[in-house]
Amino acid sequence: MGKVLIIGAGGVATVAAFKVAKNRDVFTDIMIASRTKEKCDAIVKAIGDESIKTAKVDADNIDELTALFDSFRPDIVMNLALPYQDLTIMEACLKSHVNYLDTANYEPRDEAHFEYSWQWAYKKRFEDAGLTAILGCGFDPGVSGIYTAYAAKHHFDEIHYLDIVDCNAGNHHKAFATNFNPEINIREITQKGLYYKDGNWIETEPLSVHQPITYPNIGPRESYLMHHEELESLVKNFPTIKQARFWMTFGQQYLTYLDVIQNIGMSRIDEIVYEAPAADNSGRMEKVKIVPLQFLKAVLPNPQDLGANYEGETSIGCRIRGVKDGKERTYYVYNNCSHQEAYKETGMQGVSYTTGVPAMLGARMFMLGLWRKPGVWNVEDFDPDPFMAELNKQGLPWHEVFDGDLEL
Ligand code: NDP
Repeated sequence: MGKVLIIGAGGVATVAAFKVAKNRDVFTDIMIASRTKEKCDAIVKAIGDESIKTAKVDADNIDELTALFDSFRPDIVMNLALPYQDLTIMEACLKSHVNYLDTANYEPRDEAHFEYSWQWAYKKRFEDAGLTAILGCGFDPGVSGIYTAYAAKHHFDEIHYLDIVDCNAGNHHKAFATNFNPEINIREITQKGLYYKDGNWIETEPLSVHQPITYPNIGPRESYLMHHEELESLVKNFPTIKQARFWMTFGQQYLTYLDVIQNIGMSRIDEIVYEAPAADNSGRMEKVKIVPLQFLKAVLPNPQDLGANYEGETSIGCRIRGVKDGKERTYYVYNNCSHQEAYKETGMQGVSYTTGVPAMLGARMFMLGLWRKPGVWNVEDFDPDPFMAELNKQGLPWHEVFDGDLEL
């Protein structure tokens, strides 16, 4: 039992706050803090629990964070802001002696680059402080790693091939929109692909490798090989893995828009100089610096507003081939999540829901003392069993298929 501080007030934070508020047996005091306090207040209003506190904080600023942590004294901070803030929040956690959880690995603003090295570098400091840091506790990363750990614990002596398959078969009736923060999302999918094979990392041109994969209750969807951060920790934690890949579905229209966005330079993350009306309303023009992708985010639909008209389901799972008792076997474990059901419960669509629920569950595991060990850990470093049991009770039930055709 203890106090939780949620940082961020976007789609994922909203779902996590709804779920935290439903788990009062472990979360005794709740605070939501973000850059825009009004957004935190709106979440409290939507939940209808006036005991939830709110605050304004700039999570890029370690001093502001420590002042907030020292006044609220949370047991754990759930970082549901953006990956840019991971390191400042981890620093503040060390200064104020608070445990940490996030859903996405640190990214420097000026380089779209995904790897855990920056956060793993904090391991000794968290260990020495007796603090737990839980990294990547959304769905993917997050449940994808927990599924793999569960498979390794119960169904395999050795895992050899791992394919994480992520399908969003929903329709939000917009010409183009992203399902979570557009800046972070477009940075991710315009990256080169990367997968692991026989001890090496193999790079592919962005979205150049693809094939249809059949998803339960959905059918075949073209799926694209991408780099995804959990591959890095999973091949390290399960060294018998010979090949690990990540696949995500995209519709043709989405890819056409993405192509245009890239070709006209709107996915650039470097600063450009732009002439804009001066902020003092004098009518004078002045030169300002903008990042094209951040500008694009400002004009794209807000992922939080997609829920009302979102139909269809997501389907995310792990397809695994390996050996048990000397025999080869396959195993597929997955969850399907309905956008409409997610919206009815939290006002947010399925992608925010499938991220916010595991984030809450990670914090719940921590509060219950089940996932608590000093250091910096990925989710598969913890016992998957209590988490898997809670997924079934808290909105993300999972299903298993043994010895089926993995298609991959
Ligand atoms: P949003 O853009 O909707 O929300 C981000 C929130 O963080 C906003 O409320 C924003 O404030 C706040 N914020 C940004 N910068 C700061 C700052 N400097 N100080 C304080 N608050 C700040 O994003 P999502 O909710 O869609 O995504 C949240 C996180 O979840 C991201 O890191 C994303 O990568 C991750 N994610 C993980 C997934 C997984 O499966 N593991 C899947 C999907 C997302 P403001 O409202 O003022 O802009």
